[in-house]
Amino acid sequence: MEQTRVPHVLLLPFPAQGHIKPMLILAELLSHAGFQVTFVNTDHNHDSLLRRTDITAFCKRFPNFLFSSIPDGLPSDHPRSGIQYIRYLFGSIKEASKPALCQLLISLKEETGSQRGPPTCIITDGLMSYGIDVAEELQIPVIAFRTCSAYCLWVYFHISKLVGEGEIPVSDENLDKPVACISGLENVLRLRDLPSICRYPKGNPVLQFFIGETTALTRASALILNTSHEIERPAISKLGPLFTNIYTIGPLRASPSDSFNGVLLQEDRSCMTWLDSQPSRSVLYISFGSLVILTRDQILEFWHGIVNSGKRFLWVIRSDLIIGESGTGTVPVELDQGTEERGCIVGWAPQEEVLGHPAVAGFLTHSGWNSTMESMVAGVPMICWPQLADQQVNSRGVSEVWKNGFDMKDTCDRSTVEKLVRDLMEDKREEIMESTDKIAKMAREAVKEGGSSYTNLEKLIEDIKSMAS
Ligand code: UDP
Repeated sequence: MEQTRVPHVLLLPFPAQGHIKPMLILAELLSHAGFQVTFVNTDHNHDSLLRRTDITAFCKRFPNFLFSSIPDGLPSDHPRSGIQYIRYLFGSIKEASKPALCQLLISLKEETGSQRGPPTCIITDGLMSYGIDVAEELQIPVIAFRTCSAYCLWVYFHISKLVGEGEIPVSDENLDKPVACISGLENVLRLRDLPSICRYPKGNPVLQFFIGETTALTRASALILNTSHEIERPAISKLGPLFTNIYTIGPLRASPSDSFNGVLLQEDRSCMTWLDSQPSRSVLYISFGSLVILTRDQILEFWHGIVNSGKRFLWVIRSDLIIGESGTGTVPVELDQGTEERGCIVGWAPQEEVLGHPAVAGFLTHSGWNSTMESMVAGVPMICWPQLADQQVNSRGVSEVWKNGFDMKDTCDRSTVEKLVRDLMEDKREEIMESTDKIAKMAREAVKEGGSSYTNLEKLIEDIKSMAS
């Protein structure tokens, strides 16, 4: 009788923090299910992970987990942070990485005698359609993992139509015009809420990249989304007919006791000690994720607004957050004033732990999808200042659908910041907490045993097992 071999899944994330994290959490879950896992980063991100102090413990805990890497096509000393690097990746990663992925898969296919052997299935990032190309060429089943919200993905499927109707590029004059042609979201979105790429001129290469990658998704045999039916039902049901299978398995959460949590940067844990000494529900947590950049003027507007609100704050200021005339700028000296008394600034925080801390009352966020879900699960209401990609759509969901925060899109003047911080932490707290608690409960239930995402993850595991038999 032929023996069923242990399933082997190869995961290929887009090389940005917000993509690596949920894919790494999924990889850990698959590893827990007994699968062999190969996680393919770019050489640069691979090296960053290896610099983390807890990597050895992780590898000991997960002996069936292998990190592998492929080049991204840039010289090793080229800068690899910020949005410029991501724009380069949109244009060039396919050409640079596809041959190396092919080579890696061929060498795994030849490992027939080893326990690992060729992959049963590839899970490729939804912005890495070259993973689908390679899987098709080598006849390996492929599933796409799109790490943005389902709402935003559904919007991406309408970009060509919106270009055809002349709504894109969105201009300053029509920002508040309702978007009527996206079924299921008719009463939710205005043109200003469309993904940031909709403000680019027609024919812009990044716009074209997103259109191409979205169309390519449907060639995968199934789609994984980091969301749940309870959170995004209207969009998930609209996406349903486009895919043979959709596994909504979110909100994916790093398990603090048993996880590597998928972050590339070493966290500054001193902020946890600082939080321990703050009164309950008194602190505003501020972070703009891994890619957003601010000008000196913008950061000062935020600073004045926050200080004038009189609230305590924990602020993540990455070394490349502030952009100056000649590249990365320095933190304005003004930020030192008042910080010692009421604030704490770190370069990178253990965000999920911060959001779960009893001292935290609110989150001023850029509305990245991971941050949005993490805040939702933690029951922390948000002020949203979206800048890139799906962030514009997510922040609209926060203010209009889940009602667990305010959308501060397209402005950050000090008086607006001050007012919204006061509203969130004080004046409108009761009202906002009612819906925040409700959606938090739904998000947590989804991943509990018997919940919709829990059940979908079990189904995904069973479906991959059946590919191996
Ligand atoms: N993050 C973190 N520490 C920080 C800031 C962010 O661990 O100081 C994590 C955060 O928990 C989230 C991810 O980085 O999981 C950022 O992803 P998101 O989709 O929110 O935004 P992106 O960085 O892709 O813009």
